[in-house]
Amino acid sequence: MAKQLRGAPVAKAIVAELKERTAALRERGVTPTLTIVRVGNNPDDISYEHSAIRRCAACGVSVRRMIITEKANTRTVVNCIREINEDEAVHGVLLFLPLPRSVDETAVRETLAPEKDMDGITEGSMAGVFTGSGTGYPPCTAWACMEILDYYGIDPAGKRATIMGRSNIAGKPAAMLLLQKNATVTICHTKTPDTVKECSRADIIVAAVGRPGTIGVGHTRIGQTILDVGINVLEDGSVTGDVDYENVEHIAGAITPVPAGVGPVTTAVLAKHVVEAAEKFADRRDVEIREAARRAAAEQAARNARSKAKTAQ
Ligand code: NAP
Repeated sequence: MAKQLRGAPVAKAIVAELKERTAALRERGVTPTLTIVRVGNNPDDISYEHSAIRRCAACGVSVRRMIITEKANTRTVVNCIREINEDEAVHGVLLFLPLPRSVDETAVRETLAPEKDMDGITEGSMAGVFTGSGTGYPPCTAWACMEILDYYGIDPAGKRATIMGRSNIAGKPAAMLLLQKNATVTICHTKTPDTVKECSRADIIVAAVGRPGTIGVGHTRIGQTILDVGINVLEDGSVTGDVDYENVEHIAGAITPVPAGVGPVTTAVLAKHVVEAAEKFADRRDVEIREAARRAAAEQAARNARSKAKTAQ
């Protein structure tokens, strides 16, 4: 029977660490703050928003909400994002996508400063994930997969990883992050001829497809680790992942359940990104303060020297 890679202990460990880091930031006069920008009233967005607010509160991260009517045009949303970019009290932004059709999503995404982009939606953040440069932040879901592997002591180095799905928010960043951790990565999509072959030879599978039962017994082999990112709501209202869990759990070595797997870790990672952004802000501010003090001291010394010289004449 596969080991269950439950998200709750991973999230708990992240929250415990963040509590200490947010307390240290408060002592430096910085309250880590996230602004959630929601255009319209999509129930899935509202539900995620509630989980994010609860998680951030537990970590000591303050949350503001900017709710914009779904009738808003591009200029209104772009102006909101510009305002947040300039607000030094806000360290991170979660912008729900997709935006209504009346709004130019690319224009809005690219207005957001990558250093405030907590969910990897700007091209700056995507480039950061691709190059490993540290610009912006990877999407929370993709990073949540790395946190789960790390917590359960599964090192991707030297392992074969197969990613099912190539979206910018899940599949591609998960592939890049596993590559950075020295896995040998294969990415599958709807045009991949034989996903059974690609998955069954993998040591790690990340399923990010959005279709229940996509990963079945044929895709699985003994000892494999499976991270199920999928969230699929069935007709009876229950939630399931992309993996045929009941059958696959008898073969795989370790597997995330859905719900209670990747999901809870995602909001913890969101809080972690905000804390990291706030720490970077505090470091920059402290350097500026030190630099200003150094300049003021140098100017004072110069003034003193001039006045001394005048007195001596
Ligand atoms: P998406 O944009 O619809 O992308 C789905 C990807 O899966 C596409 O690349 C598609 O290939 C590929 N695909 C579809 N059917 C396939 C098949 N039979 N074999 C191989 N590849 C297949 O979805 P997404 O935004 O990445 O989300 C994926 C799932 O993750 C959804 O269930 C979503 O709800 C969930 N999700 C969860 C979280 C979380 O926090 N846990 C966060 C984000 C998303 P093509 O490119 O060829 O079309």
